Amino acid sequence: MKNKIILFNVILLTVATLAVFFTGIGVSNTSHHEEAEKKIIDITSVYAANYNDDVTENVPEDIRITVIGSDGIVLKDSDDQSVVGKTHLDREEVLAALRDEPQVYTRYSSTLGKDMVYYAVKVPSVADFVILRVATPVASVNGYVRKTVPTMIYVLLCALFLSFVASFFMTSGIVRPLKEIKDNLTAVNNGTYRETVRHTKDGEINAMLSEIDDISRKLQTSIRTATEEKERLDYILSNISDGIVALDGEENVNLINPNAARIFPAGAEGKRYTVLTADPSFNENVAECIRSHREKSFEFTAEGKDFLVCMKPLEKGFTVIVLSDITAMKQGEKMRSEFFANASHELKTPLTAVKGFNDMISLSTEDGQIRDFSQKIDREISRVVTLINDMLDLSELESGKPVSPVKTDLRTIAEEVIESLSPLAAEKEVTVTVEGNAEAFLEREHAVELVKNLTENGIRYNNRGGHVWVNLSQTDEVSVLSVKDDGIGIEEEHLGRIFERFYRVNKSRSRETGGTGLGLSIVKHVCEIYGADLAVSSRFGVGTEITVTFRKNQT
Ligand code: ADP
Repeated sequence: MKNKIILFNVILLTVATLAVFFTGIGVSNTSHHEEAEKKIIDITSVYAANYNDDVTENVPEDIRITVIGSDGIVLKDSDDQSVVGKTHLDREEVLAALRDEPQVYTRYSSTLGKDMVYYAVKVPSVADFVILRVATPVASVNGYVRKTVPTMIYVLLCALFLSFVASFFMTSGIVRPLKEIKDNLTAVNNGTYRETVRHTKDGEINAMLSEIDDISRKLQTSIRTATEEKERLDYILSNISDGIVALDGEENVNLINPNAARIFPAGAEGKRYTVLTADPSFNENVAECIRSHREKSFEFTAEGKDFLVCMKPLEKGFTVIVLSDITAMKQGEKMRSEFFANASHELKTPLTAVKGFNDMISLSTEDGQIRDFSQKIDREISRVVTLINDMLDLSELESGKPVSPVKTDLRTIAEEVIESLSPLAAEKEVTVTVEGNAEAFLEREHAVELVKNLTENGIRYNNRGGHVWVNLSQTDEVSVLSVKDDGIGIEEEHLGRIFERFYRVNKSRSRETGGTGLGLSIVKHVCEIYGADLAVSSRFGVGTEITVTFRKNQT
């Protein structure tokens, strides 16, 4: 840049000097012509006024005098005798003089090899008149050129030298801070920016430098903040116990943290998410989350470990997948469930024996008080056996054992359940009716559990003279089972918890009516196994409706 500026200045100066020189030549040329024209008219009038026969004698060197007859024939010539006797009627100045309109003409004389001015006037003579023509050379510009060229070259060289030196220092003054700015910007880019740019004596450049300096500092701060944030984020991502995968808008893996890299094969970054795993359920869930743009969570097993996968769509098409290792939790759950099942099973055997012995005591005694105690024992044992049966049912449902769904007529099941619950309904004076038809794909035992638990609750948490309606309906897509009652209802605050194990709104009422606190847990598990939707609506003091919706394409 510096060299370019210097070269530009030198060229500019040379062109300017040459322009001045050539303009000088032009001006000098014009003035010489004007001077010659004026001079020739004056000289001619002097010679005309003093005209005599010897006019062509003793003529100064730079003047040529020609005497031409009225017929145009040259009579005399001071310089060239060869033209005497020849006609000059072809000369413009002669013709102008003949017209009495004398005029100066400039022509190049090949005889003398220079520009000449010519002027002719009529001069009276003995024989009418003669034409007196005077010619003189135009001072040549060569003299000017000869005189001025060395000076000009000298001036030009001096100017070039001064221009070079001035340009050098001036451009150095401009280029140096620019170079420093460039170095500083490079340093900013590399994250090593330290100093501010040194200022010059030029106020405008200083203002510009201050601005650039300010921007550099801000840029440096932003880069440093961004770098620190990235490092912090990298640190968190590397040390977080969860596996994290981020997908971009093109469904490619944009980020994968070390924990996720341990679960999935290496080199997935930048490739489509399907390279992560061949597990069809994982890929379907990811596709579904991206398509629906809704959060989704599911369980996934890889490398012998269980993961809870939570997917969340973010802005700009990004999707984040978080994999939490739930192997230990699953293991614990499994152990608890096994313990639950084993304990229930172990309790059931001695209880059955106790019940048998109690029955024998009741039958073999005559003592009314003992029989009374025996009956109470029998009631309590039956309650514990019911509880244990519910616990065993729940353990089995939770065990994840594969199910063998069959097309089940829910109407037939409902009628059988109602029949089996008729003693309870009669005792509570509650009317139970069934309406409609529906079929669903599930194990018969599970269908019975479902209808029985819901209908039994409808009866037990009802008032004397109350109603329970078991409604069945179906379309091409769904089969719906709804159990509705006009019983005591459930307060809003309990609705979210009634499906938890052993959760009871009113413990004493549940116990009084023979409840175990597990009925709705069993219902929830059956629904989960078959992917059925479970909904509850209730108004305290008015009644409750629990609806189970089976989707036909899932069953
Ligand atoms: P339980 O064996 O105690 O009935 P459930 O799991 O079947 O246990 O029900 C949980 C709790 O939900 C019950 O204790 C009861 O308070 C409430 N509940 C269930 N069904 C109804 C209903 N139809 N009407 C009113 N409350 C109900």
